[in-house]
Amino acid sequence: MLTCKEFLRELADYLDTTVDAELCRELEAHISNCSKCYVILDTARRTIKLYKGMQPQEVPEVVHVRLMAAVERKMADQEARRQRLSLPKGWHL
Ligand SMILES: [Zn+2]
Repeated sequence: MLTCKEFLRELADYLDTTVDAELCRELEAHISNCSKCYVILDTARRTIKLYKGMQPQEVPEVVHVRLMAAVERKMADQEARRQRLSLPKGWHL
């Protein structure tokens, strides 16, 4: 089972579909068990789709960077919240 950190590290490659089949399965297993990462993935996919709809090219680096910044902010938020609250069930950072 991947941790959320491992999942997020592979997320960009997964979205680019450059991960190998085995890792792909592990990532999918993770999101089926982790609603937090599922939401991140879902948001990322929608962001990319939206962008691709406007511009039928590769996702530009700037989107990628913004996306990763958003994910990092989200993780930092959760980190801060986690210090105040106990870890919700199903989280496994
Ligand atoms: Zn997760």
